[in-house]
Amino acid sequence: MPPAKGKRKASNNEAAASSSKKQKATPTSAATAAEPARRESAYIDLLSSVVAIHVGDGPETFTIHSGLLREQSDYFAEMLQNDEPTLHLPDVPLRTFRLFMAWLYAGKLLTPKEALEEKDSVKVEKDQEADSEADSEAETPAWIDLDLVSLYIFGREHQVRRLKNAVITAMHREHARMDFLTDEDAIHLQWDGCGLDSTLSHFMATERATYGLQNLDAVPDYFDTLPRSFFTKVLRVVATLNSRRSHGHDVSKLGNPCRWHDHLGAEGETKLCWQSSEDA
Ligand SMILES: [Zn+2]
Repeated sequence: MPPAKGKRKASNNEAAASSSKKQKATPTSAATAAEPARRESAYIDLLSSVVAIHVGDGPETFTIHSGLLREQSDYFAEMLQNDEPTLHLPDVPLRTFRLFMAWLYAGKLLTPKEALEEKDSVKVEKDQEADSEADSEAETPAWIDLDLVSLYIFGREHQVRRLKNAVITAMHREHARMDFLTDEDAIHLQWDGCGLDSTLSHFMATERATYGLQNLDAVPDYFDTLPRSFFTKVLRVVATLNSRRSHGHDVSKLGNPCRWHDHLGAEGETKLCWQSSEDA
């Protein structure tokens, strides 16, 4: 039997954003009053105005607090400058947008079950279910990779950096929990949407190099079906891992998901995120 799609082959294995609000004049007379006043105006800035976003080509329109959008995305910040009453996102899948909104308001990524209140929003292929044993904890996937990749593509196209980082962390954790590798359809979607140079493509290539391609003399058949540039990228990572291994490093595990995050070089943010990812 060929290895199950996306299944691991062998076993050897945000800090609060600063408000982008304009500084308002604070009373000079009472320094003690200034701080609460500032906080209040930040709060008002975030929640005072809403924007309608028309998603897809159906009738669905969502109302969102524009301050939240502005805070997370330069793309939306620019779009909202003109005080347009409605934005249109015709190419965004509704489901992806709903997951994005849940992330935006919760401040963390919610699974489809949590965000969409769908009992069986995650469908597992029968053969995958069948060959996983009685480990009931790991039985039910919380995510399908395609949802995560769609969210990532949305984040990339609309400059929502923290969402992209959250997707990588979620994928990393979910795959570790379920003992999965990225699904091949999801690799294709990533490649079509973001190409070779995204942080998610780095993650996927490192994952396959670490768990899916131990032995270059026995390249699994499924690589034939994947984009050629993905395969060459994986080979490069394998070479790097081999060199690190020969220097005595443990390269049998992926390690901290923060490795693939984009923190814009902000040391403080990286440090906080790295630490919280270690602890999780
Ligand atoms: Zn990080």
